[in-house]
This record gives sequence, C-alpha cells and structure tokens, in this order.
Amino acid sequence: MATVCLDPGHGGRDAGAVRDGLEEKRIALEVALAARAALRPAHRVVLTRDGDITLPLVERRGIAETARADLFVSIHVNASTGSRARGVEVFVRRPSDPASLILAAAVLQEIIRQWPDRRNRGIKPASLGVLRQRRPAVLVECFFLSHPAERALLGGAEVRAALGRAIARGCEAFLRRPALSARARAVRAEANRGRTGRRAARSPRPRGSRPV
Ligand SMILES: [Zn+2]
Repeated sequence: MATVCLDPGHGGRDAGAVRDGLEEKRIALEVALAARAALRPAHRVVLTRDGDITLPLVERRGIAETARADLFVSIHVNASTGSRARGVEVFVRRPSDPASLILAAAVLQEIIRQWPDRRNRGIKPASLGVLRQRRPAVLVECFFLSHPAERALLGGAEVRAALGRAIARGCEAFLRRPALSARARAVRAEANRGRTGRRAARSPRPRGSRPV
C-alpha cells in the first residue's frame, strides 16, 4: 500500500480557469475525488483539499510532506486565450528527475489511451513551486476549458469521473513499476514520440510562463 497525495488545483477565492460557468477548481476536485475512489482501498489517498477552500502552494506541499506521500499529482484543467489549443500535458519540475518523469508518462499515457483522439502535448518542464518536493511530483493539465469540444467533454460528469480513473491507473502503473530509473529517458522519449500537435513555439503560453 502506497500513500498517494492528490492535489485538486485552485479552490476557494481562486477559481482557476472559468468558461461558460464551468470552473477549473470544481472540475479538478471532481476528478480528484474520482481518482481517490479508484485508488482506494488498495492505497492510502490524501487530498490536499476535499472542499472549496483557498489553499496556498506551501500548504499543499506541507500536506504531502506530513502524510509522507509516496507520490504527488496536482490536477488542473488547461485554458488559453484563444479557442484552438487542445489536448493533455503533464508538467514535471526537473526533466532530470527520473521518478517524476515515469509518473508523468504513466498518467499521460492512461489519459491518452482513454481518449486517443485527443492531442498528446507531452511532458514538459516547469519550475512550479507546488512540485518542489522530495517525492515524485507531477502536474496534469486535463484538456482545455477554452476549446469548445473539450469544454463539452469537461462539462460531463462521466468524463470527469473517467479522467479521475485514468489518473488513478497512471498512479498504479507507476507504483507497480520495477526499479527502472535508468529507463526514464526512454520512457520520456516514448511519451513524446506519441505526442501530437504543435511545437512549443506555438504553445498558447509564452515560453517560461506557468500553467494555471
Ligand atoms: Zn490550474
């Protein structure tokens, strides 16, 4: 049994992205609750929040630390200023951290396996404070609330539940892994080979900016 810390992004005064009345904070929480349900009872699951509360990044990290979590997954929904950006991407803090890369690849692959027609945007580095941890830690951006078709997906309770189950399967795949830190680069290369879509230069975010 492992301890999994799930971190629904935003909350309370911080709604995250909002489109057509759909709030990132609520979607992220529903996805996280579904992931928790899927991981139990095989694993101990700790949520950084299970309600609509404002939670600073340092407290999110502290909850994972206090729980001695074996891994950490922050759950978000993407958005861009335009309506064309779409797909799924996973952020790691340091590309040189093999365990986080393997976790990122596992989560990404399970989501893309469930929705093969959605764009795989790959694994990306970002110096996010919430990922500054002593354990494998990733931040997953599940679809774009700003893309009409993906907004329709995210508006469905069953899709949100399925996203949670896919993230749970990714965590389980990571936890089942043999000790293969040496394989991390290969895993990452494989994940990014399946990646579809535009290059970083045409990302909806300017280079160096942070996911929200
Ligand atoms: Zn967010």
